[in-house]
Amino acid sequence: MLVLVINSGSSSLKYQVRDVEAGSVLAEGLVEKIGMGNGGEGDGQIEGPRDHAEALEQVDAEIHAALGDRTLDAVGHRVVHGGERFAEPVLVNNEITRAIERLNPLAPLHNPANVLGIRAISKKWPDMPQVAVFDTAFHRTLPEHAWRYAVPDELYTNHGIRRYGFHGTSHEYVAHRAAALLDVPVDEFDAVIAHLGNGASVTAIRGGQSVDTSMGFTPLEGLVMGTRSGDLDPSILVFLGRAGWSPEDIDAMLNRQSGLKGLAGNNDMRSVVEASEAGDAKAAMALAVASYRLAKYIGGYHVAVGGAKAIVFTAGIGENSHQFRALVAERLGALGVELDGGLNRERSKEPRVISSPSSAIPVLVVPTDEERAIAEATAAVVTGARI
Ligand code: ADP
Repeated sequence: MLVLVINSGSSSLKYQVRDVEAGSVLAEGLVEKIGMGNGGEGDGQIEGPRDHAEALEQVDAEIHAALGDRTLDAVGHRVVHGGERFAEPVLVNNEITRAIERLNPLAPLHNPANVLGIRAISKKWPDMPQVAVFDTAFHRTLPEHAWRYAVPDELYTNHGIRRYGFHGTSHEYVAHRAAALLDVPVDEFDAVIAHLGNGASVTAIRGGQSVDTSMGFTPLEGLVMGTRSGDLDPSILVFLGRAGWSPEDIDAMLNRQSGLKGLAGNNDMRSVVEASEAGDAKAAMALAVASYRLAKYIGGYHVAVGGAKAIVFTAGIGENSHQFRALVAERLGALGVELDGGLNRERSKEPRVISSPSSAIPVLVVPTDEERAIAEATAAVVTGARI
């Protein structure tokens, strides 16, 4: 089965064509600057596609050669917010598209863009089966005590203010692969998974299900990220509001100027590690803040899952930064966690154990592959099977 996986942003469209049975990638790419067209008159700027429909024409042209005489069987969309309704991937129809749109207030940057992607496909290929795979869905198993904020109940009932969690597709995929690596049935797998990319979140897995996760109402809560602050005292926002900051100023500061960038002046973990190794005190402190925060979450989630059988690192930083993994593991010494320095530094694209045999909890590195997970979920929904 050939699945076109689409991650549609407001001004970009990222895609992959996957052969689900073979597990291979036939084509991939990124169309950018959608809707940013008519800027430059004769200034040599390349104009972007006018809209998502035009971007899709570009994708169609780009994948043409790779497809040969094969045709696409389905399209799988990464949809950021599934609200309380969507706990699983679903086959898209008009009603589902409208339901995703009704969630726009919860994800004002992402869901409208996801819907533009869905509509562009419907227009171009009206009979193409489309599946929506939600970033929030895996976290629908959170118990109420984990998803509630301790604020007046009407904020939840009238505004949907609760914790939703994100990165669910990745956490679920990695949980399955980690359980397989340790030869544990996934429904008996208790673990803590740290997805550390530009956005970062950690999830408590009990019996293969998500029982807590560090991102909340939005992807801002939790860990120190590339440019996002993660947890802070909400009174800071009130303080800044009274000092004249607009909601947009506060939003930009927390989402785009904070995290590693705010502390070290650079949002890229590789650069921050290099700077720290070269003696930059701010970079060293940024690493200390980020690793301390993550270690606190892992300790807490060890309790939430009733004793983790594994601690798993994934995504850009989790898979590649042995320095950051070592900083986190050092702080987990009280739990009996002990890395094998050699295994930790090894470079590999395979899932692997990096702790020493005497570590009280095995520590794993498991590469994530969200596109693969979306393609497989799409194929499963379309063929009516469940994975
Ligand atoms: P996204 O959330 O955008 O998918 P990624 O999962 O690609 O992000 O992760 C990006 C992060 O991974 C960046 O902070 C980058 O510095 C870090 N990273 C990638 N490769 C390495 C590496 N070899 N060493 C350290 N950090 C790395």
